Amino acid sequence: MSLRLISLDCPTCGSAMRGEGLDTIFFCTHCGGAAVLEGERVEPVRGTALLPAPGRSARLWRPAWRLEVEARVQRRIRAGGRETPGWQGRRVFFIPAFAIGLDDLTRLARALSEISEATAEVPREPIHGGVLAADDALTLVRHVLIGDEVRRSDMLASVEVAVELVGRGLIALPFERVDDRLRCAVTGLTVSADRG
Ligand SMILES: [Zn+2]
Repeated sequence: MSLRLISLDCPTCGSAMRGEGLDTIFFCTHCGGAAVLEGERVEPVRGTALLPAPGRSARLWRPAWRLEVEARVQRRIRAGGRETPGWQGRRVFFIPAFAIGLDDLTRLARALSEISEATAEVPREPIHGGVLAADDALTLVRHVLIGDEVRRSDMLASVEVAVELVGRGLIALPFERVDDRLRCAVTGLTVSADRG
């Protein structure tokens, strides 16, 4: 596959940031700054990297959103009509932002939501392939939360899940290549994704 590379100026330091043809997420290999292309505007976004788990290494990087949300789960109705307690609270989610199947995406997002976050500076290496808009990432957060609630009880008939965005950032996520698949160096999960 040949990929068209496009360039934008880093909103932090002015260096050229490079991405693949459809990318809307960019990391600067000069200053480590992160940015998202929204319409015609390049918006700077706080960027960090997740550290690989002990014994694993970062061979390549892929972009993800770090979304902090206020989640509210209410009106949990079980089959038979009994209402069970909901909850409300701050949660942090990591949503892969590169091209990946929905099953792999939710599996990886769920596993990443359970880690204790260890962050580092953004590596000065290519981090391409970011195509997921922040709004879509927020929709996926809600999807993950609903999945969690369904898992809690086999008799859940309905539930209301609301998420309010509190803060957003971009994350460089470390991977190892295993044959033609990618293994997340944070969670150990392997996903099908192969670009760049
Ligand atoms: Zn820069």
